[in-house]
Amino acid sequence: MKVDLLKLPPGEALEVIAKNVAKCRRCSLSAGRTHSVPGEGSAQAEVVFIGEAPGFNEDQRGVPFCGRAGRLLDQALENISWKRQSVFITNVVKCRPPNNRDPLPEEIVACQPFLNWQIKIIKPLMIVTLGRFSMAKFLPHVKISQVHGQVYPLRWQGLRLVVVPLYHPAAALRSGRLRQVFLDEFAKLPGYLNLAKKGFWFSEEEKEMVEEAGASQQLKLI
Ligand code: SF4
Repeated sequence: MKVDLLKLPPGEALEVIAKNVAKCRRCSLSAGRTHSVPGEGSAQAEVVFIGEAPGFNEDQRGVPFCGRAGRLLDQALENISWKRQSVFITNVVKCRPPNNRDPLPEEIVACQPFLNWQIKIIKPLMIVTLGRFSMAKFLPHVKISQVHGQVYPLRWQGLRLVVVPLYHPAAALRSGRLRQVFLDEFAKLPGYLNLAKKGFWFSEEEKEMVEEAGASQQLKLI
C-alpha cells in the first residue's frame, strides 16, 4: 500500500485496506475465493474481534461471521447489549481456505499486514481472539484450553492492548458445555473493558496514554 494509512481518517484507511484485500494475490487462497472478507465494523471500535478465516457463507457474501457461528456471536453480543456495528470483526486470513480447512502458516504470514494495519488504525483497547489462530498472534506459547476467558494486558507494536482469548464460536457450537463457557466468558467482556478504560492493568504513564486514546477516539460502544 503506497498511501500513508495513518494519515487518513480511520474509516477511509480501512476502506483502502479492504480494496487492497479485494485485489490481493499474496497467497493461494485468492484462487478459490468468491469474495474476500476484510472485516467490518466501526473504525472507532474499542473492541476488535478476530476469528480464523471466512467460511462458506462469509465467502459468498463478503461479510465476516454471517453463518451459524456468526449467529452465536450475534447472540453473545446482544446478551451484553453491544451492537455489532460498534465493534470491529475480522479474521486472521481474509479469504476462505478450501473446504474450510485450517489456514496454513504461510497464508497467515502473507495476510498478516492487513490485520496489523487494521489494528494500528483502529487502536482498540481490547482484542478478543476467537479460536487458537488469532490467539497465537498475541499469545504464541499457550493452549486455548488452558487460557480461554483470561485477560492478558500486553504491548503490541506501540499499542497497549488487553487481549482476551475465547473459544471460536464454531467450536462452541459443537458442544453444549463449550457453548455455555463461551457465553459466560463473553458476558465478562464489558467489565474487562471498563477496567481497561480506567487503566486498571496499566502503569500511571500508560493510563495517560489510554485516556488520551479514549478521548481522541470518542468511543461509543452501546
Ligand atoms: Fe491476500 Fe490474505 Fe486473501 Fe491470501 S488470504 S490472498 S494474503 S487477502
